[in-house]
Amino acid sequence: MRSSRGALILEQSDYKPGDLPPDGYLPWHEWAEVQRKAGIKQVQCGKCGVWNTPQELSGESIRWIAQSRNGPVEQTAPVCFKCVSANEPSLCEDNATIEPEQVVSTQLSE
Ligand SMILES: [Zn+2]
Repeated sequence: MRSSRGALILEQSDYKPGDLPPDGYLPWHEWAEVQRKAGIKQVQCGKCGVWNTPQELSGESIRWIAQSRNGPVEQTAPVCFKCVSANEPSLCEDNATIEPEQVVSTQLSE
């Protein structure tokens, strides 16, 4: 029962499409390049506005009503794991404090 699994991967550039992003700046960029080359589309988190690959999204989404030229339009956006697990605005970017209730009155200006 020693560490005979040999599954610990330490080599660089060994990320696969669908992997979760690693910590660290350089590893992250290598990982992101793999995702990009694989054609994985990023989706913008509806809370923090950060673009995430599908594997980083929590599966939850927020909904709100936006006013468009043709009247109210229901908008939905996925929410990333960071926003769901942390629930602390400071972990994401500055606009992370947007709550669905606050967005209800959003109006698109012409
Ligand atoms: Zn987020």
